[in-house]
Amino acid sequence: MLFFSHPACLEHDPREGLYGHPEQPGRLRAIEGALAARDWLGWERREAPAASEEELELVHPREHVEGIRELCRSGGGAIDGDTYAGAASYEAALRSAGAACAMTRALVAGEAQAGFAAGRPPGHHAEPSRAMGFCLFDNVAVAAALAIAELGVERVFILDWDVHHGNGTAEIFRRRADVLFASIHQGGIFPGTGALGDAGSGPGEGFTLNLPVPAGSGEDVWLSLLEDRVLPAAAEFEPQLVLISAGFDAHRDDPLAGCRLEASSFARMAGLVRTAAEDWGAPVGAVLEGGYNLEALTDSVIATMAALAGDE
Ligand SMILES: [Zn+2]
Repeated sequence: MLFFSHPACLEHDPREGLYGHPEQPGRLRAIEGALAARDWLGWERREAPAASEEELELVHPREHVEGIRELCRSGGGAIDGDTYAGAASYEAALRSAGAACAMTRALVAGEAQAGFAAGRPPGHHAEPSRAMGFCLFDNVAVAAALAIAELGVERVFILDWDVHHGNGTAEIFRRRADVLFASIHQGGIFPGTGALGDAGSGPGEGFTLNLPVPAGSGEDVWLSLLEDRVLPAAAEFEPQLVLISAGFDAHRDDPLAGCRLEASSFARMAGLVRTAAEDWGAPVGAVLEGGYNLEALTDSVIATMAALAGDE
């Protein structure tokens, strides 16, 4: 099992420009502190390389990459009311995407059956040409595109269990049939996309699965959608690589949304994905997205990693 991160990811701090911002360095510090206290669950730690701009350009136009780079070089600032990039944010974003890419390379090379890429800023709201929702580049999408473009993978399944719809990832792969994107998310909250009827378009029709749930939904709802809808669709797709956009803001204690999962719920979801992926012969890599109550976040990350490793 492989855990990827980098100290530069602690230097990105949206609170510099957006007062009281919940996506702050303490999230990653709490995760790493809790893991260190548990001897990293026996996982091997690796330092994330910086993603190359060529890798980012697998899913983002060059103008977007250059725009973020130049904003950071000039000292940074708020991009919108939620999204900030400061002087240190470009390196953090490269390492965050690089964690997902390095994990994917290692998984595809057969170095491990499971990985966790713990970078920040998160990624799944970043659209091809637009940073939004705390996200600058779409880390999980870059990794999936890399697997297909350079690593010989033909089919990638992305499960997005962050409580918010992964609009960026959905948009990037909307017209593609080589990435199955499935998202379970709370309906009616940010970013407002991800309606049940949106199944992708053109050649990608049928390769997007949006499953909004109402506020207050708990483990029974989330697990039944995963077991009855998502995993059967993924089994039919026969993925060679599974990536989880792993946000933990569907936890009952999260301040940004209204679902009611527990840390153990994430372990159950991860366990179901792990068991299914074993049947498909596919490795599983989780990429950190949201999760804003530090205790809920760390408990949920640890539960997820333990389940991915097959620990009881
Ligand atoms: Zn989220």
